[in-house]
Formats: sequence, C-alpha cells, structure tokens
Amino acid sequence: MMSLCNMSMLRIVAQLGPTTEAGRPLILSLGLLLAIACGTFASAQQQADNPKNASGETNKRSDDSAEGRSSPESPSASGASLEGPLDGREGRELLLRNFRPESKLQVEENLKQRAKFPVVDVHTHFYYRLRSSRQALEDYVEVMDRNNIAVCVSLDGKLGVNSALGGQLEEHLDYLWSDYQDRFVVFANINWRGDGLDDQPATWACNRPGFADRTAEALATAVEKGVSGLKVFKRFGLGYRNADGSLIEVDDRRFDPIWKACGELGIPVIIHTADPAAFFDPIGPENERWEELSRHPDWSFHGPQFPSRQSLLAARNRVIARHPKTQFIGAHVANNAEDLAQVSQWLNDYPNLWFEPASRIAELGRQPFTARDFLIEHQDRVLFGTDGPFPETRVRIYWRFFETRDEAFDYSEKVPPPQGLWQIYGVDLPDSVLQKLYHQNAARLIPGVKERLEAYRRRGNPHRSSSPQTTGDQDG
Ligand SMILES: [Zn+2]
Repeated sequence: MMSLCNMSMLRIVAQLGPTTEAGRPLILSLGLLLAIACGTFASAQQQADNPKNASGETNKRSDDSAEGRSSPESPSASGASLEGPLDGREGRELLLRNFRPESKLQVEENLKQRAKFPVVDVHTHFYYRLRSSRQALEDYVEVMDRNNIAVCVSLDGKLGVNSALGGQLEEHLDYLWSDYQDRFVVFANINWRGDGLDDQPATWACNRPGFADRTAEALATAVEKGVSGLKVFKRFGLGYRNADGSLIEVDDRRFDPIWKACGELGIPVIIHTADPAAFFDPIGPENERWEELSRHPDWSFHGPQFPSRQSLLAARNRVIARHPKTQFIGAHVANNAEDLAQVSQWLNDYPNLWFEPASRIAELGRQPFTARDFLIEHQDRVLFGTDGPFPETRVRIYWRFFETRDEAFDYSEKVPPPQGLWQIYGVDLPDSVLQKLYHQNAARLIPGVKERLEAYRRRGNPHRSSSPQTTGDQDG
C-alpha cells in the first residue's frame, strides 16, 4: 500500500476521468475536472522544464517511469519535485490524500433543511451506530423531527441463540420502543453462528440440522412481538462458512425455509449482497475507489479467496426467483448502482424485488439523467434509505439530491469525499414520485409503517411550522 501512496497524484487523478465519464460528456464530474486541470498543469510544467517532453509519446514514457522507478530524489512525471512534503506547493508533487480542491463553480444552490414529504428511512442501524446510547437516540429523534423523518427502520435485531428471545433483538426493541415505539420499526437478523465458536464454522448454528426451520419459528415469534422484516448482511456470501470452511453460497437450498417463511409471515427481506464494483477490482491506480480503498484495504473483496461479484448477485437473484411470494428489498440499489440498466432488468424480471438508495447517492448522483429516468420508471418499487443514523448534514444531502436540480455538490460532509473523488447532481423528482420514494411504498410493503405514518401526521410535527412546505405533510 505504501508504495502506491508515493505515486504521482496527477497520474491517479487522470485515471479517474474516463472511468467516471464514459458517455456523459455534458456533466463533468470532479474527477474529470481534476484530470483536466491537472493534465493542463502537468503539460505546462513539462513544457517549461523540458520542451522535448511535450509530445504524446514522450509523455507516455515519462508516465511509465513515474509508475515504475520514481524515488524520493527523482523528479516526478510532471517534472515536479518529490522532495519535501508532497503538498503541491512551490513546484513539489501533490499526494492524492493532500488534495483539497475548492470548487470555483458559481451555480444556484438549493440547500434543503427538511424533506418535502414525510420520510420512512428503511435502512438504518440504531444498534451498530448508536451503541445503545440513550442520549444519541434522543438527539437523533430530534434530527428526525427537524428533517420530517417520520419512521426509521432499524435493521439490527439479531435473533437469540435458540429463539427470537433473549438476544440482541429483545434488547434493541427495548432500546427503541421504551420511548419511541411510534417512530421505529425493527427488522430481525439471522443468528448464523449461534453459540458456536468463531473460528470453527463446524460448530455454528447454521451448520446444524434443522437450523432453517428453527430460524423460521424464531421469526414467527419475532413477528408476534412486532418485528417487521428480516435483514441479511453482506457476510452472507462473503463471510459465513460451511462446516468445511468454504463460504456459504447465497442460494444454498438449506436456507430456503427461511425465505419462504418470510413470505408466509408477510414480512420483507432486505438483503445486502456483494458490494461496490470497485471493491472487487485490484487496488491500483485504475481503481475508481482507490482513495477509499487505500484507507480501508480490508473493504476489498478482490482475489481468489472471494467469489466474483457477478456470481454473488446472480445467486441472490436465484433466491428471489425461487420465492415469488416473498418480497425482497435489494439494499443499496440492489448493490449495482453502477449499472442501472442491469438493475432495471432485474426489476422487470422479478416483480417481488424492491430497492433503496442507502449510501448510494454518490453513484446515482454522478449519472443524474440515467438515475432520474430509472427512479421514475421504477417509482412503485423504490424505497428510501440512508444507512444512518448519519450526521444531519449528510441526511440533508439526500433531500437536496432527490428534490433539486443542483449541480456539482458534495454527496457527503466528509473530506475527502469517502466514496469516490467526484461530486453529484440533483435528480429533481416530481412530487408524485417523491411521495412514493419517501413513504408511500414503504407503507405498502413494511408492516407497522402505515400506522406510524398516520400517527405522525395526526400528531403534527413540532418543526412543521418552520418548514416552507407545510402542504408536504398533507399528501395521501
Ligand atoms: Zn446497512
């Protein structure tokens, strides 16, 4: 990893342009802008330092030398010095991690303090993110009030070892429901390991006979207690193991009784399978998420020890196809936001597939024309999700993304942008689609949501009067 950090930042940024911008000439992502700016800078430097380097061929060779042989003493491909802090000042090279561009673009900004219509956030982790802090919960309920989030679906209710009871699920229901039962619904999680030993998959509950039937019974009990769905984490396919140590496959028939039971119980399954496409590619200069993966190399699923991304998604799709009476929510735009034409095909193939955009506005927002068409086409099966609770500044970016046609804005409050060095564009959805996205579809799909939404509307929101869009709460 460290040797990659020494590479010319100009070279790395230049690689981003073509990948992110194929077929989108009208919208320049940050990556392309940087590539252009840096390319100009690099060639100006080259011409100043060594006019013979101005031809394309010579530039190519000097690029190669930067990749293979640059050392702290030698000049970089651009001719800038690699001595001293690589901060881009006074003729020195710039490390990618030191790049902090300030946009000079002057365009209209429509910041949104509050969603235009009541929101149901179907993808949140109140156990894993708030760690049972009461203060954090109270603070976030205030964020919900200010932002017009009526209901959050917390996906963190892991079933007990031998039944629904006695585990994280019960604790989590207590945590959320003692004061805020009207604002939260909870999804259960399968307890794959049970009381087995971490490093001995042969001892795990999921490898014992009758596991799926016991889990189906536990789910039935959980539903009696008010649980509204089942969440399946990405470790299913990428982490949970068979007794012999191999990875359990997503479409393993042993677990069919669980998916079937969810259909019979009338609860949806939100399933996270695989991860962003770039996480399955080598971590190298052509990886569009290099900056992120260089900070989190453990997020990479590249290599022979992992199944391919396509095989994981195909196995998930076979499960969805085999259980037409069970409703599946493909988390994170069915984990293929880089290829909306493909997701669109899946939605057409599987009428029991829904999707939500948690942690994927970076992807949707760099293809705003395609994303807008996609969201409108599939408006009856889109749900809203964030993957939060997140800081309020990030939550508000979701409103801006869905509700405005703002251009080239940050998709996260984090510096540098955590999911790729680019910016996003709003999709300006029509009100009728926004309402389906924000709450109407969730009310149809997820048990317990409709009643809570109605109560939220009846109660009136304490922050409603401060909103310029009071009529937004009156929709059907
Ligand atoms: Zn999540």
